[in-house]
Amino acid sequence: MSGSHRKRVLLAKPRGYCAGVDRAVEAVEQALEQHGPPVYVRKQIVHNRHVVETLSERGAIFVDETDEVPEGALVVFSAHGVSPAVRGQARERELRTIDATCPLVTKVHQEAKRFAREDFDILLVGHRGHEEVEGTAGEAPEHIQLVETAEDVATVEVRDPEKVVWLSQTTLSVDETMETVRALRERFPTLQNPPSDDICYATQNRQVAVKAMAPQCDLVLVVGSRNSSNSVRLVEVALSAGAGAAHLIDFAREIDESWLDGVETIGLTSGASVPEVLVRGVIDYLAERGWADVEEISTAEETLTFSLPRELRPSRAGR
Ligand code: SF4
Repeated sequence: MSGSHRKRVLLAKPRGYCAGVDRAVEAVEQALEQHGPPVYVRKQIVHNRHVVETLSERGAIFVDETDEVPEGALVVFSAHGVSPAVRGQARERELRTIDATCPLVTKVHQEAKRFAREDFDILLVGHRGHEEVEGTAGEAPEHIQLVETAEDVATVEVRDPEKVVWLSQTTLSVDETMETVRALRERFPTLQNPPSDDICYATQNRQVAVKAMAPQCDLVLVVGSRNSSNSVRLVEVALSAGAGAAHLIDFAREIDESWLDGVETIGLTSGASVPEVLVRGVIDYLAERGWADVEEISTAEETLTFSLPRELRPSRAGR
Protein backbone atom coordinates (compact mmCIF):
# COMPACT_ATOMS: atom_id res chain seq x y z
CA MET A 1 0.00 0.00 0.00
CA SER A 2 1.08 3.60 -0.61
CA GLY A 3 2.10 6.20 1.96
CA SER A 4 -1.35 7.80 1.63
CA HIS A 5 -2.62 5.31 4.23
CA ARG A 6 -5.27 6.88 6.36
CA LYS A 7 -6.34 4.76 9.24
CA ARG A 8 -9.74 5.86 10.46
CA VAL A 9 -12.82 4.53 12.20
CA LEU A 10 -16.35 5.36 11.08
CA LEU A 11 -18.72 4.99 13.99
CA ALA A 12 -22.35 4.37 13.09
CA LYS A 13 -25.09 6.32 14.81
CA PRO A 14 -27.58 5.13 15.90
CA ARG A 15 -26.02 2.00 17.37
CA GLY A 16 -26.39 -0.01 20.57
CA TYR A 17 -29.23 0.04 23.07
CA CYS A 18 -32.75 0.58 21.82
CA ALA A 19 -35.64 1.72 24.00
CA GLY A 20 -36.93 -1.84 24.49
CA VAL A 21 -33.57 -3.22 25.65
CA ASP A 22 -32.91 -0.26 27.91
CA ARG A 23 -36.28 -0.83 29.58
CA ALA A 24 -35.80 -4.60 29.92
CA VAL A 25 -32.34 -4.33 31.48
CA GLU A 26 -33.56 -1.63 33.85
CA ALA A 27 -36.52 -3.81 34.76
CA VAL A 28 -34.19 -6.55 36.05
CA GLU A 29 -32.01 -4.00 37.85
CA GLN A 30 -35.05 -2.44 39.50
CA ALA A 31 -36.49 -5.85 40.39
CA LEU A 32 -33.21 -6.71 42.11
CA GLU A 33 -33.21 -3.40 43.94
CA GLN A 34 -36.87 -3.47 44.99
CA HIS A 35 -37.18 -7.17 45.83
CA GLY A 36 -33.58 -8.30 46.40
CA PRO A 37 -32.03 -11.41 44.84
CA PRO A 38 -32.77 -13.90 43.58
CA VAL A 39 -34.79 -12.56 40.67
CA TYR A 40 -35.48 -15.21 38.04
CA VAL A 41 -35.44 -14.25 34.38
CA ARG A 42 -37.03 -16.49 31.74
CA LYS A 43 -34.53 -16.72 28.84
CA GLN A 44 -31.83 -14.12 28.34
CA ILE A 45 -33.39 -10.77 29.20
CA VAL A 46 -31.79 -9.44 26.00
CA HIS A 47 -29.49 -11.34 23.66
CA ASN A 48 -26.15 -10.09 24.96
CA ARG A 49 -23.52 -12.09 26.84
CA HIS A 50 -22.09 -9.16 28.76
CA VAL A 51 -25.51 -8.00 29.96
CA VAL A 52 -26.50 -11.50 31.08
CA GLU A 53 -23.17 -12.05 32.88
CA THR A 54 -23.37 -8.67 34.64
CA LEU A 55 -26.96 -9.23 35.83
CA SER A 56 -26.09 -12.78 36.95
CA GLU A 57 -23.34 -11.38 39.14
CA ARG A 58 -25.92 -9.12 40.77
CA GLY A 59 -28.30 -11.95 41.62
CA ALA A 60 -30.41 -12.60 38.53
CA ILE A 61 -30.94 -16.28 37.73
CA PHE A 62 -31.55 -17.03 34.08
CA VAL A 63 -33.72 -20.04 33.31
CA ASP A 64 -35.06 -21.55 30.12
CA GLU A 65 -38.58 -22.24 31.30
CA THR A 66 -40.87 -21.20 34.11
CA ASP A 67 -40.94 -24.74 35.57
CA GLU A 68 -37.36 -24.12 36.71
CA VAL A 69 -38.57 -21.23 38.89
CA PRO A 70 -39.55 -22.16 42.48
CA GLU A 71 -43.28 -21.74 43.16
CA GLY A 72 -44.18 -18.25 44.30
CA ALA A 73 -40.86 -16.73 43.20
CA LEU A 74 -40.42 -13.58 41.11
CA VAL A 75 -39.77 -14.02 37.39
CA VAL A 76 -39.13 -11.47 34.66
CA PHE A 77 -40.24 -12.19 31.10
CA SER A 78 -37.61 -11.10 28.58
CA ALA A 79 -37.81 -8.31 25.98
CA HIS A 80 -38.62 -10.88 23.29
CA GLY A 81 -42.06 -11.64 24.69
CA VAL A 82 -43.86 -14.83 25.70
CA SER A 83 -46.82 -16.83 24.45
CA PRO A 84 -50.10 -17.05 26.38
CA ALA A 85 -49.15 -20.64 27.26
CA VAL A 86 -46.08 -19.41 29.15
CA ARG A 87 -48.18 -16.84 31.02
CA GLY A 88 -50.61 -19.63 31.90
CA GLN A 89 -47.80 -21.83 33.27
CA ALA A 90 -46.53 -18.95 35.39
CA ARG A 91 -50.04 -18.43 36.82
CA GLU A 92 -50.41 -22.13 37.60
CA ARG A 93 -47.15 -22.06 39.53
CA GLU A 94 -48.26 -18.87 41.28
CA LEU A 95 -45.16 -17.04 40.14
CA ARG A 96 -44.99 -13.32 40.60
CA THR A 97 -44.24 -11.91 37.14
CA ILE A 98 -42.74 -8.76 35.69
CA ASP A 99 -43.29 -8.44 31.98
CA ALA A 100 -40.35 -6.79 30.22
CA THR A 101 -41.67 -7.62 26.74
CA CYS A 102 -40.78 -4.73 24.44
CA PRO A 103 -43.93 -2.72 23.66
CA LEU A 104 -43.07 -3.04 19.96
CA VAL A 105 -43.17 -6.83 20.26
CA THR A 106 -46.47 -6.57 22.15
CA LYS A 107 -47.78 -4.54 19.22
CA VAL A 108 -47.08 -7.48 16.87
CA HIS A 109 -48.83 -9.83 19.34
CA GLN A 110 -51.89 -7.56 19.26
CA GLU A 111 -51.87 -7.60 15.46
CA ALA A 112 -51.66 -11.40 15.46
CA LYS A 113 -54.61 -11.65 17.85
CA ARG A 114 -56.68 -9.21 15.84
CA PHE A 115 -56.12 -10.92 12.48
CA ALA A 116 -56.73 -14.33 14.07
CA ARG A 117 -60.06 -13.03 15.44
CA GLU A 118 -60.93 -11.92 11.91
CA ASP A 119 -60.01 -15.45 10.76
CA PHE A 120 -57.08 -14.49 8.50
CA ASP A 121 -54.26 -16.84 7.65
CA ILE A 122 -51.22 -15.06 9.10
CA LEU A 123 -47.83 -15.51 7.45
CA LEU A 124 -45.19 -14.64 10.02
CA VAL A 125 -41.85 -13.77 8.43
CA GLY A 126 -39.14 -14.69 10.92
CA HIS A 127 -36.52 -17.16 12.10
CA ARG A 128 -37.63 -20.56 13.35
CA GLY A 129 -36.72 -21.13 16.99
CA HIS A 130 -36.24 -17.44 17.82
CA GLU A 131 -37.94 -16.64 21.14
CA GLU A 132 -39.84 -13.70 19.72
CA VAL A 133 -41.30 -15.82 16.92
CA GLU A 134 -42.31 -18.54 19.41
CA GLY A 135 -44.09 -15.94 21.54
CA THR A 136 -45.93 -14.29 18.63
CA ALA A 137 -46.89 -17.60 16.99
CA GLY A 138 -48.19 -18.78 20.35
CA GLU A 139 -50.86 -16.06 20.29
CA ALA A 140 -52.75 -17.83 17.50
CA PRO A 141 -51.03 -21.11 16.60
CA GLU A 142 -53.94 -22.29 14.47
CA HIS A 143 -53.80 -19.18 12.26
CA ILE A 144 -50.06 -18.52 12.01
CA GLN A 145 -47.45 -20.16 9.83
CA LEU A 146 -43.82 -19.23 9.72
CA VAL A 147 -42.14 -18.13 6.49
CA GLU A 148 -38.36 -17.92 6.86
CA THR A 149 -37.21 -16.98 3.36
CA ALA A 150 -38.47 -16.21 -0.14
CA GLU A 151 -37.73 -19.88 -0.99
CA ASP A 152 -40.32 -21.01 1.59
CA VAL A 153 -43.10 -19.14 -0.19
CA ALA A 154 -43.82 -21.91 -2.71
CA THR A 155 -44.81 -24.33 0.08
CA VAL A 156 -47.18 -21.99 1.93
CA GLU A 157 -50.77 -23.21 1.98
CA VAL A 158 -53.68 -21.02 3.04
CA ARG A 159 -57.40 -21.64 3.39
CA ASP A 160 -58.54 -18.54 1.47
CA PRO A 161 -55.97 -16.70 -0.70
CA GLU A 162 -58.11 -13.54 -0.38
CA LYS A 163 -57.73 -13.48 3.36
CA VAL A 164 -54.02 -13.50 4.07
CA VAL A 165 -51.86 -11.04 6.00
CA TRP A 166 -48.12 -10.98 6.67
CA LEU A 167 -46.53 -9.94 9.94
CA SER A 168 -42.88 -10.15 10.93
CA GLN A 169 -40.31 -10.52 13.63
CA THR A 170 -39.09 -7.08 14.76
CA THR A 171 -35.38 -7.63 14.10
CA LEU A 172 -35.12 -8.79 10.48
CA SER A 173 -33.22 -7.38 7.53
CA VAL A 174 -35.58 -4.89 5.89
CA ASP A 175 -34.35 -5.72 2.37
CA GLU A 176 -34.57 -9.50 2.78
CA THR A 177 -38.01 -9.25 4.32
CA MET A 178 -39.26 -7.16 1.42
CA GLU A 179 -37.94 -9.81 -0.97
CA THR A 180 -39.93 -12.47 0.90
CA VAL A 181 -43.03 -10.26 0.91
CA ARG A 182 -42.69 -9.66 -2.84
CA ALA A 183 -42.64 -13.41 -3.38
CA LEU A 184 -45.66 -13.82 -1.10
CA ARG A 185 -47.54 -11.11 -2.98
CA GLU A 186 -46.89 -12.86 -6.29
CA ARG A 187 -48.68 -15.89 -4.89
CA PHE A 188 -51.34 -13.95 -2.99
CA PRO A 189 -51.96 -10.64 -4.82
CA THR A 190 -54.39 -9.35 -2.18
CA LEU A 191 -51.95 -10.06 0.66
CA GLN A 192 -52.53 -7.50 3.42
CA ASN A 193 -49.69 -5.55 4.99
CA PRO A 194 -49.30 -5.17 8.75
CA PRO A 195 -51.10 -2.01 9.96
CA SER A 196 -47.65 -0.48 10.66
CA ASP A 197 -44.04 -1.65 10.28
CA ASP A 198 -43.30 -4.70 12.40
CA ILE A 199 -39.54 -4.42 11.88
CA CYS A 200 -38.91 -1.92 14.64
CA TYR A 201 -37.45 1.57 14.37
CA ALA A 202 -34.20 0.51 16.09
CA THR A 203 -33.56 -2.40 13.73
CA GLN A 204 -34.27 -0.20 10.72
CA ASN A 205 -32.18 2.75 11.93
CA ARG A 206 -29.13 0.59 12.70
CA GLN A 207 -29.32 -0.98 9.23
CA VAL A 208 -29.63 2.42 7.52
CA ALA A 209 -26.57 3.70 9.41
CA VAL A 210 -24.49 0.64 8.45
CA LYS A 211 -25.56 0.92 4.82
CA ALA A 212 -24.42 4.55 4.77
CA MET A 213 -20.89 3.77 5.95
CA ALA A 214 -20.27 0.26 4.57
CA PRO A 215 -19.24 1.28 1.01
CA GLN A 216 -16.32 3.27 2.49
CA CYS A 217 -15.19 0.48 4.80
CA ASP A 218 -12.50 -2.16 4.25
CA LEU A 219 -13.78 -3.85 7.38
CA VAL A 220 -16.94 -3.48 9.48
CA LEU A 221 -16.97 -4.67 13.09
CA VAL A 222 -20.38 -5.29 14.62
CA VAL A 223 -20.43 -5.63 18.39
CA GLY A 224 -23.13 -8.11 19.35
CA SER A 225 -23.81 -11.71 20.36
CA ARG A 226 -24.34 -14.61 17.96
CA ASN A 227 -27.92 -15.17 19.16
CA SER A 228 -28.81 -11.51 18.62
CA SER A 229 -30.88 -11.43 15.46
CA ASN A 230 -30.51 -7.72 14.78
CA SER A 231 -26.73 -7.87 15.34
CA VAL A 232 -26.28 -10.78 12.92
CA ARG A 233 -28.39 -8.87 10.36
CA LEU A 234 -26.01 -5.88 10.66
CA VAL A 235 -23.10 -8.05 9.49
CA GLU A 236 -25.14 -9.21 6.50
CA VAL A 237 -26.29 -5.68 5.67
CA ALA A 238 -22.69 -4.37 5.86
CA LEU A 239 -21.50 -7.04 3.43
CA SER A 240 -24.33 -6.54 0.98
CA ALA A 241 -23.81 -2.75 1.10
CA GLY A 242 -20.19 -3.11 0.01
CA ALA A 243 -17.98 -3.54 3.09
CA GLY A 244 -14.74 -5.39 2.26
CA ALA A 245 -15.32 -7.71 5.23
CA ALA A 246 -17.56 -7.77 8.28
CA HIS A 247 -17.35 -9.63 11.58
CA LEU A 248 -19.50 -10.03 14.67
CA ILE A 249 -17.69 -9.81 18.02
CA ASP A 250 -18.89 -9.85 21.61
CA PHE A 251 -15.77 -8.15 22.95
CA ALA A 252 -12.69 -6.32 21.61
CA ARG A 253 -10.55 -9.31 22.62
CA GLU A 254 -12.27 -11.39 19.93
CA ILE A 255 -10.81 -9.27 17.13
CA ASP A 256 -8.39 -11.33 15.08
CA GLU A 257 -5.34 -9.17 14.32
CA SER A 258 -5.18 -10.60 10.80
CA TRP A 259 -8.52 -8.90 9.99
CA LEU A 260 -6.67 -5.56 10.21
CA ASP A 261 -4.02 -6.41 7.59
CA GLY A 262 -4.05 -3.85 4.78
CA VAL A 263 -7.14 -2.14 6.19
CA GLU A 264 -7.57 1.65 6.26
CA THR A 265 -11.19 2.42 7.08
CA ILE A 266 -12.96 0.40 9.75
CA GLY A 267 -16.69 0.77 10.32
CA LEU A 268 -17.96 0.14 13.82
CA THR A 269 -21.49 -0.42 15.05
CA SER A 270 -23.38 -2.45 17.63
CA GLY A 271 -26.65 -4.32 17.91
CA ALA A 272 -29.66 -3.08 19.84
CA SER A 273 -28.79 -5.17 22.91
CA VAL A 274 -25.21 -3.97 23.26
CA PRO A 275 -24.06 -1.60 26.02
CA GLU A 276 -21.87 1.28 24.83
CA VAL A 277 -19.01 0.22 27.13
CA LEU A 278 -18.30 -2.70 24.76
CA VAL A 279 -18.06 -0.34 21.77
CA ARG A 280 -15.68 1.86 23.81
CA GLY A 281 -13.54 -1.23 24.36
CA VAL A 282 -13.24 -1.70 20.60
CA ILE A 283 -12.47 1.99 20.03
CA ASP A 284 -9.64 1.77 22.61
CA TYR A 285 -8.33 -1.45 21.05
CA LEU A 286 -8.24 0.13 17.60
CA ALA A 287 -6.69 3.39 18.86
CA GLU A 288 -3.79 1.41 20.35
CA ARG A 289 -3.17 -0.03 16.89
CA GLY A 290 -3.18 3.27 15.01
CA TRP A 291 -6.89 3.83 14.34
CA ALA A 292 -7.25 6.84 16.65
CA ASP A 293 -9.19 8.96 14.18
CA VAL A 294 -12.89 8.33 14.89
CA GLU A 295 -15.66 9.97 12.91
CA GLU A 296 -19.33 9.46 13.73
CA ILE A 297 -21.65 8.86 10.77
CA SER A 298 -25.11 9.81 11.91
CA THR A 299 -28.23 8.95 9.94
CA ALA A 300 -30.92 9.43 12.60
CA GLU A 301 -31.58 10.78 16.08
CA GLU A 302 -33.42 8.47 18.44
CA THR A 303 -35.43 9.88 21.29
CA LEU A 304 -37.95 7.10 22.02
CA THR A 305 -38.09 5.81 25.59
CA PHE A 306 -40.50 3.40 27.27
CA SER A 307 -41.66 3.56 30.85
CA LEU A 308 -40.80 0.63 33.13
CA PRO A 309 -43.15 -2.37 33.28
CA ARG A 310 -46.12 -1.37 35.44
CA GLU A 311 -45.23 -3.93 38.14
CA LEU A 312 -42.14 -1.82 38.88
CA ARG A 313 -43.60 1.66 38.77
CA PRO A 314 -43.89 3.42 42.12
CA SER A 315 -47.26 2.80 43.77
CA ARG A 316 -49.46 5.86 44.08
CA ALA A 317 -50.99 4.53 47.29
CA GLY A 318 -50.67 6.91 50.23
CA ARG A 319 -49.70 9.91 48.14
S1 SF4 B 1 -34.90 -4.26 18.88
FE1 SF4 B 1 -36.86 -3.21 18.55
S2 SF4 B 1 -38.44 -4.69 19.16
FE2 SF4 B 1 -36.48 -5.42 19.99
S3 SF4 B 1 -36.39 -4.58 22.06
FE3 SF4 B 1 -35.39 -3.09 20.71
S4 SF4 B 1 -37.02 -1.64 20.15
FE4 SF4 B 1 -38.00 -3.47 20.96
